[in-house]
Amino acid sequence: MAAKKGSKMKADIVIIGGGGAGLPAALAAYEKGSKALVLEKRGMVGGNALMAEGFFAAESPAQKRLLIDAKKDDLFKKALDYAHYKIDPRIVRVFINRSGDTVRWIEEKGIRFNRIAPFYPNQVPLVWHIVEGHGATLMKIFEKECKEKGIPILRKTRAKEIWVDDTGRVKGVKAEGEEGEIEIEAKSAIIATGGYASNKELLKRYCPEHLEMLEESGVPGMDGDGLIMAMELGADTAGLGNLHMVGPAPFPQNWTIEAVAGEPYCIWVNQKGKRFIDETITFNVFEAINAILRQKGRICFAILDNKMKEDIVEHGFIRGCGELFVPRGKKVEGLDKELSRQIDKGGAFISESLEEISAWIGAPRDALRETVDEYNVFCDRRYDEIFVKDPQYLQALRIPPFYAIKFSGALIGTMGGIKINYRMEVLNKADDPIPGLYAVGADTGGWESDTYCAVLSGSAFGFAMNSGRIAAENASDYIQGKR
Ligand SMILES: Cc1cc2nc3c(=O)[nH]c(=O)nc-3n(C[C@H](O)[C@H](O)[C@H](O)COP(=O)(O)OP(=O)(O)OC[C@H]3O[C@@H](n4cnc5c(N)ncnc54)[C@H](O)[C@@H]3O)c2cc1C
Repeated sequence: MAAKKGSKMKADIVIIGGGGAGLPAALAAYEKGSKALVLEKRGMVGGNALMAEGFFAAESPAQKRLLIDAKKDDLFKKALDYAHYKIDPRIVRVFINRSGDTVRWIEEKGIRFNRIAPFYPNQVPLVWHIVEGHGATLMKIFEKECKEKGIPILRKTRAKEIWVDDTGRVKGVKAEGEEGEIEIEAKSAIIATGGYASNKELLKRYCPEHLEMLEESGVPGMDGDGLIMAMELGADTAGLGNLHMVGPAPFPQNWTIEAVAGEPYCIWVNQKGKRFIDETITFNVFEAINAILRQKGRICFAILDNKMKEDIVEHGFIRGCGELFVPRGKKVEGLDKELSRQIDKGGAFISESLEEISAWIGAPRDALRETVDEYNVFCDRRYDEIFVKDPQYLQALRIPPFYAIKFSGALIGTMGGIKINYRMEVLNKADDPIPGLYAVGADTGGWESDTYCAVLSGSAFGFAMNSGRIAAENASDYIQGKR
């Protein structure tokens, strides 16, 4: 749907952003009897949720069918422990409590979740509900239902300002469409613009961990519009600066090469040619990035020998890349070609000589040889004296040629931003709600600490959908005078 120049429109709730949080919010508003209108700045809906592989839920119908005992109460405590209590327990509580019902809600729309995958070895309980076809499958279902229910989605229409009356209550949203400016009068607005991972200036200002060189994995357009609009209205922030990062991620980005660098048999070295961690941390990409970013220059290298490379070709990846991007355990066709391409682009190196590789990574010529010799002794003894790597992944590097893959990390999105409470109401600096204003998904902070919690795998997408539903329900109560 397109809006005409100078258009004035009316809705009960304007939802700013048609992604992982915005579309469920629109449907939840409809279910509560409110007229929602969605503004989406891109030509298509879905945002980063298009790429998400799975989402968190506890005590869902799918878990019950698969005999997975994922207790909300236990997961709630785990989340708080992991974050060292630096998050808001009431937000986490409503999210986890609602998550199982959201699976029911989605399944009623005609999809069934049959795969709840581990994110790392021996994960208990399993919580990551895999969406075949990625989040794009869900976004299509939500978009279709919005259409059926007559919920307008204005594409290529960027919200620019939320306006309030003299008492500070939301009155509407101004936006810029293809044909010019439009105004939508509404008593409530839900900010769902997906964070600020595309906005280099905001990243520089708020995120000490951010580096220009981190590859951005998400869709473009996450410019922090929601955060900026909320701050203009006096909103406070929570967890601002926390980033959703993963590692290893090679330069240039390539999912297959990422999977090679992430194989647990590889060794990882820094620019001095020294190992710096038990490489099996690779199974938790959100923690691995912390170890990677501690290294000088924040550049590291995965080293493997020809036997390891051949094992990947023949037997497939042990870790792979995500659950859907590069699967595990399947013969890998064309790996030599992918490696050659990465070498041509300067992101990898091959040589019969460890000394040459050492020079390529910028370390003293003998450094890598010393590291590998020491590691090979650990492998022979089945004991890594320094980092206590799981012996099942100790495999000596002895068969040339050797490969080095340059990597750092990738930025998936931002995890902190607008301060909200458990109703998803936006809070001002006095911790009071700004009447009629809600924020959801990656625009918000307070539900995740500085390191993304893999124990609650899929909580980013999970939080987006659940916070969207919760916000829309509360916004409906607010405009209907029930609160
Ligand atoms: C490669 C990749 C893989 C991922 N995998 C997972 C996973 O497996 N599990 C998981 O939990 N999470 C995953 N995530 C993260 C997850 O996708 C996000 O946390 C989630 O999409 C956040 O939802 P959101 O609605 O806040 O933002 P988005 O889904 O990104 O939606 C935001 C929308 O707002 C629109 N918008 C922005 N500004 C404006 C404006 N001013 N006016 C109108 N519209 C605007 C954007 O165009 C976009 O459509 C992944 C992310 C990436 C990049």
